[in-house]
Amino acid sequence: MKSNPLLLHIFLCVYLFSPACEYLPWQSGSSLNYTPSYRSEALPDTSAAPEVRKTKLRLAFVGDLMCHQMQYEYAKTPTGAYDFNPSFEYIRPYLQEADICFGNLETVFAGREDGRQYSGHPAFNSPDSYATALKQAGFDLVFTANNHAADRGHYGIKRTLSVLDSVGIQHAGSYASLDSNSAIPVFEWQNLRLVVLAYTDPLNSSKPSAFKGWINRVSKSKIEADLTKARALSPDLIIVHYHFGKEYERTPNQSQKQWANWAFEHGADLVIGEHPHVLQPLMQVNHNSPRTHKGVLAYSLGNFIAHQFQPYTNASVILFVEFERSLSSQPLTLVKSEVLPIYTSLVSNKKMTQHVVFPSQLAQLYKYKHQPPPPLTEFPKLKAYQWSKMQEAYLQTTTSAIQDTNGISLYSILTPPL
Ligand SMILES: [Zn+2]
Repeated sequence: MKSNPLLLHIFLCVYLFSPACEYLPWQSGSSLNYTPSYRSEALPDTSAAPEVRKTKLRLAFVGDLMCHQMQYEYAKTPTGAYDFNPSFEYIRPYLQEADICFGNLETVFAGREDGRQYSGHPAFNSPDSYATALKQAGFDLVFTANNHAADRGHYGIKRTLSVLDSVGIQHAGSYASLDSNSAIPVFEWQNLRLVVLAYTDPLNSSKPSAFKGWINRVSKSKIEADLTKARALSPDLIIVHYHFGKEYERTPNQSQKQWANWAFEHGADLVIGEHPHVLQPLMQVNHNSPRTHKGVLAYSLGNFIAHQFQPYTNASVILFVEFERSLSSQPLTLVKSEVLPIYTSLVSNKKMTQHVVFPSQLAQLYKYKHQPPPPLTEFPKLKAYQWSKMQEAYLQTTTSAIQDTNGISLYSILTPPL
């Protein structure tokens, strides 16, 4: 998962002011393991195991991973393959510093067999190499419950999960068969167990009932039953993901607020949402979970990458949430929640034209003639108007994401923060 370059490691240690450089990647080459609940119930109790040092868990969440037609057309190489890796070149180091990185996969991988074609909106079907690039960018787990999950029918659902399995990305929210849909997904990371539950409110289909049991929908009875089972497993963390709200609205509606509160009341530690394609408010939340006591709510994390032109659809944040505990018998404690503002711009050079995600603070550094910090070694070759748009996006995103009272801080790519 994370083989951070040495420079990044040094930079992180300095940035986090961690005495004795304690913020080490947990284990190079280790992976996130998924265990269906019927197996995880049989796991030995390790609560009495001797603790060597503080356990830290740093999670990264991003919004919609779109793959519009222009994204895959620009990614097409002269050989006919599709290379999406340049899209993530500048953001990869920040995704990879998290122990587990989550995103919302708002497309399917239905392949090109039997006359199928790749397609963008309104019924997505993306090249499999998009999944490979996401894995290489640092994504460990994607939510697959969203309104586009049924874009290519049951075949698309099954094949998408199989492609994700083949590249080593875990998933939550849809199922390859009706036999598997009652298991509560428990993901293991080192000695921690995370339940990740994902649901969508909208589903684009003329017959949504045909996907009952294949795609998790927002429903009180379903979520209540899942959370009851989840709590009984005594995990270290319960994450609830909602694909909900109204597209392009920058404030949550009443329904989003109710579902978020309801999840916290029923045992969620983190509630992460998206669907509006724009950033909505995020905040720390005090709640009654026996595990963390304080969690984080993000109503909509907007787009991570997309080809959209509506206002605010190309700027958002990566949300980092960090927990720690000193003894395995203790619950996790929320240490910090911070955001890294991001911006997607079209980059054209001799080699390529492609959508590229940037930490938008780069525009501030460029303007004030700071050098890019490690691990970024050079500025991208953008036009003047692109730099000013990125800077505008940085200032706007920072202002809307960070308020006096929401407990969210800014992740500055410079130390000390600019
Ligand atoms: Zn959506």
